[in-house]
Amino acid sequence: MSENIYFDYAASAPLDPRVAEVMDKVARLPGNPSSVHAPGRELRRRIDVARKQVAALIGGETGEIIFTSGATEANNHAVAGLYDLAVGTGKPGRILISPFEHASVSAAVRRLVEEKGAVVDLLPVGRDGLISAADVARLITPETAVVAVMWVNNILGTIQPIEEVGQAVAEARAARGRLGLPLFFHCDAVQAAGRLPIDVKAAGCDSLSLSAHKIYGPKGVGALWLRRGLAVKPLLVGGGQEETRRSGTENAAGIVGFGAAAEIAQAEMTKDSARAAELRRRLLDGVKNRSGWRVLTPEEKAVPNIVFIQHDREDGETLAVKLDAAGVAVSSGSACDAGHRQPSAAIRAVFGDRAATQGGTRISFGRFTTETDLDVLMAALN
Ligand code: PMP
Repeated sequence: MSENIYFDYAASAPLDPRVAEVMDKVARLPGNPSSVHAPGRELRRRIDVARKQVAALIGGETGEIIFTSGATEANNHAVAGLYDLAVGTGKPGRILISPFEHASVSAAVRRLVEEKGAVVDLLPVGRDGLISAADVARLITPETAVVAVMWVNNILGTIQPIEEVGQAVAEARAARGRLGLPLFFHCDAVQAAGRLPIDVKAAGCDSLSLSAHKIYGPKGVGALWLRRGLAVKPLLVGGGQEETRRSGTENAAGIVGFGAAAEIAQAEMTKDSARAAELRRRLLDGVKNRSGWRVLTPEEKAVPNIVFIQHDREDGETLAVKLDAAGVAVSSGSACDAGHRQPSAAIRAVFGDRAATQGGTRISFGRFTTETDLDVLMAALN
C-alpha cells in the first residue's frame, strides 16, 4: 500500500490480501472459460463458484448474475435495458430517480432523454438526505417505465428506504394491471454491499448493481443482478458469454477475486460494521470538538464507514490537497465527480448550491483502518 494514510474506501477499498492471493493463482492459469478442454473447464468451474458467492451476498440466484466490467456497465445496462423493455417501440416513457444517483445512472438516464425522448422525474430529498417511498408512490405516473434509487449514497453514506420503495413500486405495478406499461425498479447497491445485509427479494427490485472494488475486490469487475425472466437486451454482443447477456471473454481472475471478496464480505460484515462504527464514533467525537467543522452525514441514517464533513472557511478541494500533502488521502466528493470538478449532486440535493460549491471532506474507511490511522487523520484535521 502507498505511504498515504488511506481514508477513501468509498472511492475504492484496498484489495484484501486473501483476494489477491486467489486472483494471482487464477491469473496464471491458461485457457479460455468457453473452451471444452480441461484448462477451460477449470476456469469455468471457478467462475461458477464466484457466481454462487456473489449471488449469496445479495440473496439472488446464480442464473441472475451477469458479470460486467464494473458497476458503471451494470448501471448503464440496467437503465437502458429496462427502459427499452418497458417502452419498446411505444411512445416515450418517464423515469423516476433520486437526484443523487451516481453518474453511471444519471448519465444513462440523460442519454435516454436525449436519444429516446424519455422524461425524467426527480424525487424530493429531505434534510436528512433521504427520499421517501411515499414520494415514489405519489410521483409514479401511468407512463413511468423505470424507477432508480441507489441503496447507499456514495458521498453522504445515507441509507435509502429501498424495501419501502420496492413495495411502492410493486403496488403501482399491481394497480396498473395487465394492460398497463411494465414498471421496473433498479437499485445501485455498490456502497451497500458488504455494509448492509442485502436481499434482492425483500428489496423488491428488478435489477441491482455491484462493484468488486468497493468490497475489497479488484477494480474493473462488477455484476448486474437481473431478475429471472427479464429479457433485457445485452449491451455487448458477440461470443455469447454470460448466457448471451454479456459477450466477451470473462475476466476470470477478476471474477474469482470478486467472488472471494463477496464471500469474505458476507462472513465478516458484522465484524467490519462494528469496527467501522467504533472508528466513526471516535472520528465524530474528535470532529465535533473542533471548531469550524460541521458534520453533514446524518449519523443515524448512514452506513458507519462514510462521514462527510465541511469546514466553515476552507473548500473541499483545497482541504483534500492539504490533507494529501500531510499524507492523508480523502475525497472532496466522489472520485468520479472530482475528475470533472463538479459539485456533488448529493450535497446539492440535500444542502443546496452553496454547500455543494464549497464541497467538503468525505472520510471513508474500513477493514484495514487502524486507530493509529485515525490519530494521524485527526492531527491532520487540525
Ligand atoms: N455507483 C456508485 C454508488 C459508486 O460509488 C460507484 C463507484 N464510484 C459506481 C456506481 C461505479 O462503479 P465502478 O467503479 O465499478 O464502475
